[in-house]
Amino acid sequence: MDLKEIIDILGKENVFIDEDTIKKYSHDENSKLNFPPEVVVKPKNKYEISSILKFANMKKIPVTPRGGGTGLCGGAVPIHGGILLSLERLNKILEIDKENLVAVVEPGVITQDLKKEVEKQKLFYPPDPASADSCSIGGNLATCAGGVRAVKYGTTKDYVLGIEFVTPTGEILNYGGKILKNSAGYQIINLIIGSEGTLGIITKIFLKLLLLPEYKILLFVPYSDINDACKTVYKIFESGIVPSVVELIDQRAIELTEKLLKRNISYSNAKVYLLIEIDGKQENVEKYSQIVGSICMNERAIDVIVCEDYSQQERLWEVRKNISEAIKNYAKNQEIIDACIPRSEIYKLVNVFNEVSKEYDVEIIYFGHAGDGNIHTHIIFDNTSNEKIELILTKLFNKVIELGGTITGEHGIGIAKKKYLSLMMNDKQIQIMKEIKKVFDPNNILNPGKIFDL
Ligand SMILES: Cc1cc2nc3c(=O)[nH]c(=O)nc-3n(C[C@H](O)[C@H](O)[C@H](O)COP(=O)(O)OP(=O)(O)OC[C@H]3O[C@@H](n4cnc5c(N)ncnc54)[C@H](O)[C@@H]3O)c2cc1C
Repeated sequence: MDLKEIIDILGKENVFIDEDTIKKYSHDENSKLNFPPEVVVKPKNKYEISSILKFANMKKIPVTPRGGGTGLCGGAVPIHGGILLSLERLNKILEIDKENLVAVVEPGVITQDLKKEVEKQKLFYPPDPASADSCSIGGNLATCAGGVRAVKYGTTKDYVLGIEFVTPTGEILNYGGKILKNSAGYQIINLIIGSEGTLGIITKIFLKLLLLPEYKILLFVPYSDINDACKTVYKIFESGIVPSVVELIDQRAIELTEKLLKRNISYSNAKVYLLIEIDGKQENVEKYSQIVGSICMNERAIDVIVCEDYSQQERLWEVRKNISEAIKNYAKNQEIIDACIPRSEIYKLVNVFNEVSKEYDVEIIYFGHAGDGNIHTHIIFDNTSNEKIELILTKLFNKVIELGGTITGEHGIGIAKKKYLSLMMNDKQIQIMKEIKKVFDPNNILNPGKIFDL
């Protein structure tokens, strides 16, 4: 590739071809998927991005957008080489509009930085992926990220009021803004959300904010039987209470995290735990926590630990947020899936984990967002062949679909799950997506090879 034109657009200091940079941007958090770009570029605004895309489109060079690089399915991995376009310099919070409860941000803003900034003004941006301290808002939009509070507050898509993006052919387009309603034509914003960087590069985002809940209580609840924990989850919703968090964590995930953090919180006879947060007005939170505690005990919880103290809550959150890291440290090889099923079916899926684990001699560790049925599953193996992994994933995904679920609740398809998309979508459904891609990107230069092959 001739770099002269790229250097003319961005300046030499923002164009990288050195070995260390190329290596760093060859993968995301799914370290098995490794493809080097030819060049890494770091533009500072939409005009530079537009010029790069016009150039790449003319020369038919692949361009892969990248936010924080925390994705788990290879979405930001430049599978066809070319230009890796990092959004890290577009990292400004442009406005926090208290009157309209809207934040206007650039895509490279780190999710946790936005959350902290709005909290200073007693405002709340609810989407809360466990990777919040390193993922970007742009990446969150592109994957439609969820997180621990989706059960009450929804996912990223529920907070996007407007976007600006650059098309693969270089036009800069704006949709929506500081408005809560908009029925003008197709909902293009929702098409860009979850498009995994294949339809456009997001350069500005208008996000809905809420008022920060006054008070929170966190419950940590061990169970000796997974069925009791699963039953508790839907019993809580039946009672009319909607907790802000309902997480399920299996004993093995807790053990590994205890080891990583050198801390002891597990119960010797527990098989699984629920982590439940109730938020809102203090008097309601206290009342609802008692009701939820009773529901847990009625469903044969071993104990209910009630954490009112915020530093105690932070220590529990530290455990939850370090589970992935703890499993990564332990596992030689792993496949991560984030299937989402109706929450009433979770115990059936866990039974299938047990069957698959025995049949194929692999370890399966699970945890995640039980309140919305989005269970993160780590399949751990030593020297298993690719064919065997494919058999395992196909079996699990078929069960997920049979239970009325989706093969990914929040991580996306990327490269890792591309071959399984046809398990849940027929040819026509995939063809519609391909036609949409062609309208936006006639030369297939933007993040080619993701979600499906053209
Ligand atoms: C420890 C850990 C915990 C996690 N927990 C959660 C969780 O609770 N919930 C959850 O949903 N996910 C979770 N994830 C996955 C990941 O953090 C999310 O998918 C996140 O949204 C990715 O954001 P990113 O900025 O890192 O994007 P990247 O990994 O850089 O990119 C992801 C995709 O977005 C595209 N993209 C990035 N920026 C733009 C842009 N400006 N315009 C267009 N396309 C763009 C890329 O091309 C790619 O396809 C977790 C990951 C880790 C490692």
